[in-house]
Amino acid sequence: MTNEELRHLAPETRCVQAGYLPGNHDARIMPIIQSTTYKFDTAEDLGDAFDLKIPNPMYTRLGNPSLSWVEEKVAVLEGGVAALSTSSGQAANFFAVVNIAKAGDHVLAMSNLYGGTHTLFGTQLRKFGIEVEFVDPNLSLEELKRHLRPETRCVFSEMIGNPALDVLDLEKVVALAKAGDVPLIVDNTFPSPVLCNPIEWGANIVTHSATKYLDGHATSVGGFIVDGGNFNWNNGKYPELTEPDVDYHGIVYTDQFGAAAYVAKARAGLLRDFGSTMSPFNAFLINLGIETLHLRMQRHSENALAVAEHLAQHPDVAWVNYPGLPSNPNYEKAQKYLPKGQSGVVSFGPKGGIDRARKVINQLGLATLVTHVGDLRSHVIHPASTTHRQLDEAALKAAGVAPDLIRFNVGIEALEDIIADVDQALAQTR
Ligand SMILES: *Cc1c(COP(=O)(O)O)cnc(C)c1O
Repeated sequence: MTNEELRHLAPETRCVQAGYLPGNHDARIMPIIQSTTYKFDTAEDLGDAFDLKIPNPMYTRLGNPSLSWVEEKVAVLEGGVAALSTSSGQAANFFAVVNIAKAGDHVLAMSNLYGGTHTLFGTQLRKFGIEVEFVDPNLSLEELKRHLRPETRCVFSEMIGNPALDVLDLEKVVALAKAGDVPLIVDNTFPSPVLCNPIEWGANIVTHSATKYLDGHATSVGGFIVDGGNFNWNNGKYPELTEPDVDYHGIVYTDQFGAAAYVAKARAGLLRDFGSTMSPFNAFLINLGIETLHLRMQRHSENALAVAEHLAQHPDVAWVNYPGLPSNPNYEKAQKYLPKGQSGVVSFGPKGGIDRARKVINQLGLATLVTHVGDLRSHVIHPASTTHRQLDEAALKAAGVAPDLIRFNVGIEALEDIIADVDQALAQTR
């Protein structure tokens, strides 16, 4: 079966089968091509590789068979035309924006982003001269449109905000990006391609921190950018894609690569010049993780919903936030965009505020304290004093981070053991 055929099969089947497809006598399992270099028979042949005339890699910073296989798997899973692997989720979001924005340009980003993305955009991209404006995702479409400018180059959002857990109103931001004639980039890390495919709703580019659910076992840092192939770059705003690239003997990405121009340019320009390449070994581990992604996402979602329901009626708990709870303000959006499950992260505040929150974390046994989400093990973190500690009070509020918020990555262990652990931690800190 080909990857083209696999595209039409169920997500579960794509998780298991897409990407590496062995030929006769080939290794059944995706090989790790742990090689920086590739042999070419003639100077002309290698010259063609440098000119991007043939798809073969000539140096692993720009491409490697193991990376190509896992890229193909992720592209097929998201319904995109091509994908680029990166060394981290941070690199993926960085490349996703600077691939189409330069000094003097404007980026409209939702304010509820992951802390690392917030500082990447607010601090580093500003140093590059790219003005990232953060807007409240709850504004109406009309209000949001007023923030578009002639120099806006993309709209950036997260499908489920980390850690506020608000679900993106995807149709609204698709309409916003259309109004600006700019692509919509969606960081789909929390749902993973199993629970939501933003491209099917009209998003143009999807990014992932593969470090989270795609790997799923807390072994590898990595990222992906998926090109939906559904944006018309020929609108005068993206000359770097539609006009000759002097670095590549004048090739025009939209002419040579068609619908996959965006990812081709990210590889040929950004990966070449900035590095940030995924290692082939990490590609192997991430590929292995994706093979069970559908099973894990289902179990994470079931356990998280049950833990959220348990916490919601617990006398020691002040508040619970999980988009799968019918009482949650995001419930309707969650049912619409994430009907198969709302992923594995629950946030809650114990009665007693920030001090009790710290004590509960220290008291948990099964759920350990680590800086991560998406691992199959249960774990917790206190964002206000860790992942989001660089943000001031106003930015914390905009990011939806209450001081007493415990972010609970609900693992795929037995539900009764997870709940027993939470119950003893709440009882011991009364
Ligand atoms: C973790 C995370 C990132 C950053 O990914 P890394 O792989 O840690 O660099 C970006 N976006 C979201 C939503 C994340 O959770």
